[in-house]
Amino acid sequence: MPEIHAHRRAAAAALLHENGVDALLVTDLLNIRYLTGFTGSNAALLLHADGDAKTLFCTDGRYTTQSESEVPDLERVLDRASARALAVHAAEQGYGRTGFESQHVSVEEHEHLKVRFDRVELVRTPGLVEQLRVVKDEVEIAALRAACAAADRALAALIEAGGVRPGRTELEVARDLENRMLEHGSSGISFESIVAAGPNSAIPHHRPTGAELSRGDFVKFDFGATVDGYHSDMTRMVVIGEPADWQREIYDLVHRAQAAGAEAVRPGAVVSEVDAAARSVIAGAGYGEQFAHGLGHGVGLEVHEAPSLAAAGVGTLSAGMAVTVEPGVYLAGRGGVRIEDTLVVRDSGPELLTLSTKDLVAV
Ligand code: ZN
Ligand code: ZN
Repeated sequence: MPEIHAHRRAAAAALLHENGVDALLVTDLLNIRYLTGFTGSNAALLLHADGDAKTLFCTDGRYTTQSESEVPDLERVLDRASARALAVHAAEQGYGRTGFESQHVSVEEHEHLKVRFDRVELVRTPGLVEQLRVVKDEVEIAALRAACAAADRALAALIEAGGVRPGRTELEVARDLENRMLEHGSSGISFESIVAAGPNSAIPHHRPTGAELSRGDFVKFDFGATVDGYHSDMTRMVVIGEPADWQREIYDLVHRAQAAGAEAVRPGAVVSEVDAAARSVIAGAGYGEQFAHGLGHGVGLEVHEAPSLAAAGVGTLSAGMAVTVEPGVYLAGRGGVRIEDTLVVRDSGPELLTLSTKDLVAV
C-alpha cells in the first residue's frame, strides 16, 4: 500500500521542517518499515524535508527483488553499509542540517557516520518517527484488529478443545495456544506467551515451565498474535473447576478496575489519571500493594511502545492511540489475576480490539 507510506513520509517531512532539519537519516528498521513498507533486515532511509523526490532508500543486494515490490515509490541504492552509503550521498549533495536517530545509533556507528557526512551538520533528533507512530492510522488499526482477532480465536479454540486441563504443563499449553494463533491468522508470536498456573499466576511475568495444571488453579494467559508486523496483547484468566470464593473476589475486583481504566481511556485524558482510575478501585479494596505495575502501554509495531499508562507517565491520550489496560492483583503463594485488553482511543469512546469474554471462565 504505497499511498499510506507516502502519506506517513509527508507527515514526517513536516516534522523535519518543525525541527529545523533538512533531512533525517532513519536507521531503525521499524521506523523504516513504518515509512516505506520494507520488511527486510538491513536498510536505511534518508528522508528529505522537501519530499519523496529527494528521499533515498538503501538496502543491500539480498533484497533487490523484495525492495522493488515493497518500496516501489522511492529512489533506491544498493549497498551493504546502508546508513553510511546514504551519509556519503548527503555529503555529496551538500545537505544542510541532517538529523539522526540518536536513540538507535551506537557511539561507534555515530563516529563512522560523522566521517562520511563530512561537512554536513549532523544533529541528534531522537524519537521523531516514534512521535508519529504513537497515533495509528486506519491501516495500522486494521492490522491491530486482525492480530487481536487471531488471539481471540486461538484462545477460544484452545478452551473448546479441552486444552486447559489438569495434568498438562504450562509449556504444553503455551505451545498449543501459539500453534492455534498461527492457525488462526497470526504470522508469529507477539512476545513469549505467559501461561501461569496456580501459585505461578501470582508472578506478573512468569515464564511457562514444566509445572502441571491442577484442579482449583487459576491459569493466567498473557499472549499476543502479529499481523503485518502489528502486535496484539491480551490477558485472560481461566479457573480449572469451580472457582473458590477468594478467586471470585479478586477476579471481580480486577474486573471492575479494568472496566474503570478502560472507561477513562479517551482523547485528552492524562495518562497518570487513567492509571489512577483503575488503581483507586484496587487500592480502595485494600490491594494497592498487590498491584505493583503500570496500568498499560501503547501497542503497535512494538508490543510495548509509547504512551505509558502509569502513575509516573506523562502526557495525554489522543484519538488513534492503541493502548492496553491491564490491572492485576497478585497474592504471593496463592495466585494472581490480571485482565488485559487492547483498545483504540476514539472520540466516541474506546474501541475494544480484544473481544474474548471477561467473565471468569471455568473449565
Ligand atoms: Zn500482555
Ligand atoms: Zn501488555
